[in-house]
Amino acid sequence: MITVSEFDRVQELLGQEGKPRPHYKRFAYTGLVRCGECGSMVTAEDKKKPAKNGGFFKYIYYHCTKRKPHIKCNQSCIREEELEEQIKDLLSTIHISEKKTQVILRALKIMHKEESATQNARLDSIQKSYKNAQNRLNNLLSIRLEGLINDEEYKIKKNQLIIEKAQLEEKLQDNNGRVGDWLDVAEKTFNFASRASYWFEHGTIEDKKAIIQCFGSNFILKDKNLHAEIRQPFVVIKDCLTGLEKESNRLELLQTTTQSRGDTPILSQNSSWWSLLDHIRTFFESFQEEFFIPTL
Ligand SMILES: [Zn+2]
Repeated sequence: MITVSEFDRVQELLGQEGKPRPHYKRFAYTGLVRCGECGSMVTAEDKKKPAKNGGFFKYIYYHCTKRKPHIKCNQSCIREEELEEQIKDLLSTIHISEKKTQVILRALKIMHKEESATQNARLDSIQKSYKNAQNRLNNLLSIRLEGLINDEEYKIKKNQLIIEKAQLEEKLQDNNGRVGDWLDVAEKTFNFASRASYWFEHGTIEDKKAIIQCFGSNFILKDKNLHAEIRQPFVVIKDCLTGLEKESNRLELLQTTTQSRGDTPILSQNSSWWSLLDHIRTFFESFQEEFFIPTL
């Protein structure tokens, strides 16, 4: 992963703007967009237009393939620039500055760490109870042999302990590894949200394609308007954006040295900030869908 500034520096050194475009894939958005009127795929074409000062003016336009024989589709074409403007608008709805992203990620890491500590304590306690049940089961036979309990009592007690052990075993399995990879997915999602707009402008055709495939699905073009279903993690970011921005002044208080949310009184009191992050955490914890997030 390279940062935006590193990318700029590399490009400066190379003395070129963006990576060279491979010739065989000139169209970034073919195969992704459907026509909103007839449902056919939208394709792209090069077009030349005579320029006033002689020569030609080249541009790419997208249009419906109109492959549905029984539907007369009336959709007209759209210039690639226009389409890209609309994609940029969509991407801007999830944009967070790099600085704020880092603050948010740092806070999520604190939460993850706290959660792991709680989880470990919980696991320890279950393991202790399990060992304890096992010991009591071991002792039970001696107690019976010493004649301290009768056969009936022995049987009842033994069954109770076996059930207790089985329940604890279940709990152990349930709790094992629960503090999972949510942080990793959250990190990738926030980094994407922060960098997608920049890379959409400066990346290759492949980058652009990867960005919009990651950002949304079911792209529909109708009356020159692009509609998309934004993927769930980005919907969550979008919904939280206003709140996160509002908290931005206090975000600066979260220094690199901060190890827990109780480190500074202002931070621990700032419940709206933490409840917002809690909401984000809860989402990522239960988010199961697998989708590819390109590292930008
Ligand atoms: Zn159509």
